[in-house]
Amino acid sequence: MDILKKKYLGGCHCKKVLFEFSSLIKVKLIKCNCTICKPLRYLHLIIPHKDFKLLSDIKYIQTYQFGTKKAKHFFCKFCGIKSFYQPRSHQNAYSINYNSIKNPPKINQIIKFDGSNFEKSLNDIKFI
Ligand SMILES: [Zn+2]
Repeated sequence: MDILKKKYLGGCHCKKVLFEFSSLIKVKLIKCNCTICKPLRYLHLIIPHKDFKLLSDIKYIQTYQFGTKKAKHFFCKFCGIKSFYQPRSHQNAYSINYNSIKNPPKINQIIKFDGSNFEKSLNDIKFI
């Protein structure tokens, strides 16, 4: 593994949903202003599917979809916390909620994303 990368653990409040992933030790996060991210104060860390491993049973996860249905919002069926999900912006990656990571990586930068105007703003975060 890349020496600048480390393994991290994340999950929901009740720990029924747990996952591990590898990531750089200093990361860029995305803060989105859309009507689903803003109320949750969700801080996005984009992690390629290949660097992510779900440790718990998929049966503990509830999926919520709306609009184009390209995003899959995952919630713990028990405690309701959204610790990661499949974003519409990065179809080959998951977005992990930075606030759901145990001993999280350091923050290099927080990029503001105008998710309320998704199509217009997509280029701002495409290559993160
Ligand atoms: Zn839970």
